Amino acid sequence: MQQDTPDSPIPDRDHPRPERRGFLAAAGWTALALALAPAAALAGTRSDRAALRPGVRPATLPAARPIPGRRSSEKSLDLVNVQTGEKAKAVYWANGRYLDSGLRGIDWALRDHRNDEVTHMAPDLMDLLHDLKARLGIQAPFHVISAYRSPATNARLFFEGHGVAWNSLHVQGKAIDIRLPSVSLRNVYRAARGMERGGVGYYPRSDFVHLDVGDVRYW
Ligand SMILES: [Zn+2]
Repeated sequence: MQQDTPDSPIPDRDHPRPERRGFLAAAGWTALALALAPAAALAGTRSDRAALRPGVRPATLPAARPIPGRRSSEKSLDLVNVQTGEKAKAVYWANGRYLDSGLRGIDWALRDHRNDEVTHMAPDLMDLLHDLKARLGIQAPFHVISAYRSPATNARLFFEGHGVAWNSLHVQGKAIDIRLPSVSLRNVYRAARGMERGGVGYYPRSDFVHLDVGDVRYW
């Protein structure tokens, strides 16, 4: 990928080629569980999700707060994790403050799907996503290709030669790769770039836009 990020000390070369091998390996139990589970369970309760993911640490599973209605005093996100098939809706900000319950639900949805490791995603990244949807004037959920990448996963991808950055902002919980099926990728990229809130990368062959809350830069 060509990048115009000469000022960035950490170029975002952090997107491996489509990880079919890794995806298929990781998808084994998940694919089986998704085939057997009712669709409603995908956005379900803590116990629902634990049932879908054998080996998950139950203590780390937060519950996303359902959206009771759209009010101007609230900020919410609606996400679909394309790696796991899981859906998450969460109000993460209300009455002038972030809501830990909502953020934790989002953190879980955006975990490293390869090993289920969770981190605290940057709240200002959530604000960026929220404002991007408002800018585009749409209600449809973001499709998330990748968000948090654990140090172990990043190191493995690094040493396997996938071209990921050693200090990727994905590892810091400050980056996400998304698409919006109802909006062209080019328009998503343009809208995000126009916000000037961080890094924006255009990956048409992989069909996603990278967003982060690092330095403002584009590629
Ligand atoms: Zn990315």
